[in-house]
Amino acid sequence: MSEIPVLQTQNLCKFFPVGRVGLFGPQRQVHAVDGVSLELQRGEILALVGESGCGKSTLVLTLLGLEHASSGTITFNGRDVTHLNGVGLKEMRRHIQMIFQDPFESLNPIMTIGEIVAEPLLVHGIGGSKAERLQRASQALEDAGLKPASNFINRRPHELSGGQRQRVVIAAALVLEPDVLLADEPVSMLDVSIRAEILNLLAELRDRRGVSVIYITHDLATAAYIADRVAVMYLGRIVEIGSAQEVLTNPTHPYTQALLSVIPVPNPRLRHKRTILQGDPPNPINLPSGCRFHPRCPLAFERCPQVDPQLMPVSNGHEAACLLVEPIQVE
Ligand code: SF4
Repeated sequence: MSEIPVLQTQNLCKFFPVGRVGLFGPQRQVHAVDGVSLELQRGEILALVGESGCGKSTLVLTLLGLEHASSGTITFNGRDVTHLNGVGLKEMRRHIQMIFQDPFESLNPIMTIGEIVAEPLLVHGIGGSKAERLQRASQALEDAGLKPASNFINRRPHELSGGQRQRVVIAAALVLEPDVLLADEPVSMLDVSIRAEILNLLAELRDRRGVSVIYITHDLATAAYIADRVAVMYLGRIVEIGSAQEVLTNPTHPYTQALLSVIPVPNPRLRHKRTILQGDPPNPINLPSGCRFHPRCPLAFERCPQVDPQLMPVSNGHEAACLLVEPIQVE
């Protein structure tokens, strides 16, 4: 793996103002992303896992420059891109492409598949003539598993299945030959039978092209299937991060343990105790004091509402933010 991460954040925050308390009271803010530091290496799949509203989608929109960071930094291949705009932002987006959740909404119904996949080339002024752009679009469609491309290029989205449409979305991202794909719940709208195909395609792109992927999901089972590393988010923060193997077989944070405990296990002999978290995540405007997870944590004790735990190393490359963690010494 490369020494310089392809994408890196340092203490990244994104707050949304939501008005004042009273006429002259303090400004209230939604703490959507609150101090996230992470690294994405070249050719790595990092899964961002958490419940709806934990901030994972806002984090990737901020990485893409679709939301402006409130504070902190974002670096791409070692270059600070936090406050890019105009031409600089457009150039960066050529290298960081988004795969949206809903393949039914994200494709223009009146365009042909060839036009949809070639459009990013037109926007970025790449590819020369229309024929050359369609040639590149055909290659991207085949790379995304729609072979032969000639069977698809003149069709329209409503003529394709859900899985084929998501492959078109991936082809439109691949046509610019990006370094990073930001995949926001890319299989959650698809039938279970074709989810594995799309996840296998992302893994294949990592292996064959060295593309790095941030895979956003609320489903730890699919994260286990393709991710190299897993970051678990709760209320705008990463509460546990490490290799997929470590986090999923030796979860340290009580929130990760609860998420893992409710994954269905096919063998009844292997069933374990389920931890059902009580209530919804707290309001991100009025965050709980101390550990943000304490109102729902089954292991909370008296210090938890008073002390805000930071990520601590629990083993090589594996960190968790919980007062119960006994940190190891890192050389
Ligand atoms: Fe639970 Fe306390 Fe650990 Fe927070 S610090 S996760 S409340 S035990």
